[in-house]
Amino acid sequence: MSHDHHHHHHHDDVANIKVAFFLNLAFTLIEIVGGVLTNSVAILSDAVHDLGDSLSLGLSWWFGNKAKAQPTPRFSYGPKRLSLLAALINALVLITGSVLVLSEAIPRLWAPQMPHAQGMIWLAILGIAANGAAVFRLKGAKTQNAKVVSLHLLEDVLGWVMVLAVAIALLFVDWPILDPLLSVCYMLFILYNVIKNLWNTLLIFLQATPDDLDLKVIEEELRQVNGVADIHQLHAWSFDGESHVLTAHVVADRQLSPDNYAALKVALAEICQRHPISHTTFEIEYVDESCRMAHRHEHSH
Ligand SMILES: [Zn+2]
Ligand SMILES: [Zn+2]
Repeated sequence: MSHDHHHHHHHDDVANIKVAFFLNLAFTLIEIVGGVLTNSVAILSDAVHDLGDSLSLGLSWWFGNKAKAQPTPRFSYGPKRLSLLAALINALVLITGSVLVLSEAIPRLWAPQMPHAQGMIWLAILGIAANGAAVFRLKGAKTQNAKVVSLHLLEDVLGWVMVLAVAIALLFVDWPILDPLLSVCYMLFILYNVIKNLWNTLLIFLQATPDDLDLKVIEEELRQVNGVADIHQLHAWSFDGESHVLTAHVVADRQLSPDNYAALKVALAEICQRHPISHTTFEIEYVDESCRMAHRHEHSH
């Protein structure tokens, strides 16, 4: 029963993300048109950001449904790594959008054009309302995914508050440079985060050892297990930045009885439980046995 209960909430979250996706997508289109009509590059910066949001909401909606998919012979790990692909697509779209808006905003720093402040104010109010409504829809969300989205939407409300502040200022003072200034600052902030995320995504794709796993410490702990003579071919990588995989060859110092063999596996499992590892594969070897992989990793010994 608790299982069904959990699924019920999960389904609600997926439905909420779906609504947030359509709200965001509609709003992104309004912003692009509104940004052009009000001649405001600050609004266009927000449009790029919201385009990225729409994409990631759409993709997390899709994954929310896809998460239940079973592994297949071709994709034996199931859909786990799809979120990496989504992060990559999202980063490329955001970088393209940011470069386009910056190429419009940077020249305006030297030749500012007065935007229509009144129109900006209406768009900012709409932005605060739309993002606020999405935050409200996700309130009380149970999944980590929905919580992250919710926090992000709250940041977006703050972004719109800044657009509103600039627009109100422009009603009273003739400083059109405020608009490209806000735009450039916003785009640089977005690019900084995108490049940081892109770098982390690439590290995961390249199967770098996850930051929260210290292979030296793990190797030391594995070597301490009673009956272990050596550890080699120790590898760790991450599916998606959260679920990590560890594989190793474990050399037993003597022939193992079935009981000793079981005890060894329990000891290895206990060590893995101390670290954020979700998948493990160990190959057991004996000291008098030559490693099948030896010729492939001689240089690492
Ligand atoms: Zn956002
Ligand atoms: Zn080996």
